[in-house]
Amino acid sequence: MIDEKPFVSRHRYEHHHPTVLAIYCSDGRFTDAVEDLATHLGHERIDTLTIPGGPALLNRWVADYLESDTITRAARFLIIGHHIEEVLLLAHANCGYYQSRHGTMGPEFIAEQQVQDLRHAAEQLQKEHTGIRVRPFFVHPEAERIHFKPVALHD
Ligand SMILES: [Zn+2]
Repeated sequence: MIDEKPFVSRHRYEHHHPTVLAIYCSDGRFTDAVEDLATHLGHERIDTLTIPGGPALLNRWVADYLESDTITRAARFLIIGHHIEEVLLLAHANCGYYQSRHGTMGPEFIAEQQVQDLRHAAEQLQKEHTGIRVRPFFVHPEAERIHFKPVALHD
């Protein structure tokens, strides 16, 4: 028998789904900052799809096939089912997923791979979901703050 009182959040329950989906890495050092970015972009609430590596897994040419398939299906489910209009794609510096796969290649190679993955993910989402807005960002700490650098969709 649990003797504790139920906890009640200070956040109000909103019946309507958010119209923005953020796809990012599980790394909790960036979670609050991602919500902060969403607020800055005019979104009070966000749907989230978090997995180690985040948007990296939408690049099926580089990621493990089964992982890529799972996150692609999850994104599709949310975008269609929740009428998502905008997707934020976030890759971050010092990402353990990239370190484990490409660590020996050095930070410059990894950063370039992350930008390629963001662009590929954006292209895939826009191809599959006509009219959706996709905004990729590279996230990095600098002077104890978290910076979000927009990534151009093309070179
Ligand atoms: Zn990460």
